[in-house]
Amino acid sequence: MFYIFFFLSLILFIQNCSNSNIDSQELKPDIFLSIDKIKYLTGDFSRDKVLKGFKNPNEERVHHLREDVILAYQKMIKAYDIDREGKDNQPIFIISAHRNYSDQKMIWEDKFSGKRKMSESVVGKTDEEKINLILEFSSAPSTSRHHWGTDFDINNLTNSYYETGNGKFLYQWMKKNAFKFGFCQPYNEHEKRNFKGYKEEKWHWSYFPISTKLMTEWEKAFIENKISFENKFSGSNKLGTRPIEYVKTINSDCLNMSK
Ligand SMILES: [Zn+2]
Repeated sequence: MFYIFFFLSLILFIQNCSNSNIDSQELKPDIFLSIDKIKYLTGDFSRDKVLKGFKNPNEERVHHLREDVILAYQKMIKAYDIDREGKDNQPIFIISAHRNYSDQKMIWEDKFSGKRKMSESVVGKTDEEKINLILEFSSAPSTSRHHWGTDFDINNLTNSYYETGNGKFLYQWMKKNAFKFGFCQPYNEHEKRNFKGYKEEKWHWSYFPISTKLMTEWEKAFIENKISFENKFSGSNKLGTRPIEYVKTINSDCLNMSK
């Protein structure tokens, strides 16, 4: 009798443990949106199934971001529209949001071959020199924050646009208010990042409540050799430790904001 009672209790105990495991897994928010972690972090997935599409007003092109990011973005542009009311200013609009591995590879290869212009010509440059030149403003495939559905580029892809007129109004507003909605400029003044990582991008904004977690996961995966670059694209075998240096080197205010 004692043994029967003991075994019954044991079965109930095991069932209870496995149930609570399932519960805790279900309760944990899935930052990888039910797809493989490494595939998510490196942009190796089909955005239509994972992210949500949306359009800028009066535009046909569909951009993709995570649903939580779109909701925060919409709240932010609503607030901006109230503050710019009566002034001759542009609305905020998105130029580029999610880019997958192949999108980023295309940008990389076009810059590597010289098809897409950069600050200097690639003619006569070594692979290392070409890599450093591309990395001024573009990420290597697998390393872009645009893979994560949390980051996007707005209005104009030149820093000078944000120094006068409409651009200045917009940028000053973003610097003052974007954080209230969870957004931050990861690539701030290059000198504030000891001239490391990408150069300043006043147009690139990120949703920190999620992207900081993804960045930490990316760094862990890289250190554990789970993200491989070998023979993947032009110059990929010569990247060395640049991928992690470029992923890690972001605006410290953004990191403090997500603590
Ligand atoms: Zn960008």
